[in-house]
Amino acid sequence: MFNTNTITRFQSLETPFYYYHLDVLRQTLEACRTASSKYGFHVHYAMKANFNPRVLDLIKEYGFGADCVSGNEVKAAIEHGFGKENIVFAGVGKSDKEINLALDADIFCFNAESVQELEVINELAKAKNKIAKMAIRINPNVDAHTHHFITTGLDENKFGINTWQLSDVAETLRKCTSLEFLGIHFHIGSQITDMEVYKNLCTRINEIQDWFEDRGFTIKVLNTGGGLGIDYQNPDTNTVADFESYFKVFKQFLNVKPGQEVHFELGRALVGQSASLISRVLYVKNGQKKNFLVLDAGMTELIRPMLYQAYHLIENVSQSGVISPESEVEKEATQDSELNTQDFIKYDVVGPICESTDCFQKDVELPESFRGDLIAIRTAGAYGEVMASGYNLRDRVGSIYSED
Ligand SMILES: *Cc1c(COP(=O)(O)O)cnc(C)c1O
Repeated sequence: MFNTNTITRFQSLETPFYYYHLDVLRQTLEACRTASSKYGFHVHYAMKANFNPRVLDLIKEYGFGADCVSGNEVKAAIEHGFGKENIVFAGVGKSDKEINLALDADIFCFNAESVQELEVINELAKAKNKIAKMAIRINPNVDAHTHHFITTGLDENKFGINTWQLSDVAETLRKCTSLEFLGIHFHIGSQITDMEVYKNLCTRINEIQDWFEDRGFTIKVLNTGGGLGIDYQNPDTNTVADFESYFKVFKQFLNVKPGQEVHFELGRALVGQSASLISRVLYVKNGQKKNFLVLDAGMTELIRPMLYQAYHLIENVSQSGVISPESEVEKEATQDSELNTQDFIKYDVVGPICESTDCFQKDVELPESFRGDLIAIRTAGAYGEVMASGYNLRDRVGSIYSED
């Protein structure tokens, strides 16, 4: 993934930083656009996965819409040129201020997550003499078979409206004259790789849309959400998500009626492989039971391992052998590879933050590593830079782009 020139470039830079593989991002966006347009499907990019301005601009260039979960995301989408007719707005706790902002922006669709929210949007729209277009986010009770920390579509989750409340929803929709009902919305979880899960979702959507139509409602929009997973283990051999299989499942199993639009909200699958977090080894601590690599990046730069027990591939870029014989650091590496007996050592790869959970991964097998070595934490493009924090009064993590 990192050629000699890139590594040389890294050596002159202050770490840690996010390195954006913009070629990977383009390749991924192209694949998604090709696979979805075959069926006329609409794809909104779930902005919360990564709102780096360069990333947003590229995604917009490929013609995707925006899926927002806060007022500021709606604002950012508009600022980056996503058309208001392509913006959807979900979230279990939209404030009045955020709803008003989205009403003023005339976005395509609110995805409402409770009966009370329907009433609030109706009132706020009425006060502005506007009609709010909306879909109902329904919790279909479909198990996403993903990590329980990132499951959202079960009865026990806080998201969406449960199916036993649908009569209430229908009654409220009839009363609320400042709402225009567009359709139904779902989002059952993230990092989903089992296509059977989406097949089950289609079955539930078909039942639920029949329920509404039996009661005289017209469903114009079926929004199935996002969640498509990526390969964190093999970022180099399986770089682009399986968009073909994903969209095909919906084509096969979703009962799409004439005039209906099918919408998707993909985050991770579009951006996950497009960045690596680049860090340096500050210290090597060899213990009797454990060896630690202490990096200059930690949970303040990438919190997924600590927050979701997530796996990221960790590589020692300086000892990987893809190195030109020119510069100082590289000479050492060349010697190592000449010996070709490079032993792998197990390290707990940890950050500098004053928390015991600030560990990227335990027992990572790496070539013997030294102070100053560059470490790449791969597949960090989704839910990485966006979750960076200033805890411990840390500097804001930088971003570097492959095309600069
Ligand atoms: C986060 C989110 C998504 C995107 O999820 P991914 O797993 O990143 O594809 C889509 N829709 C909603 C409502 C979300 O909150």
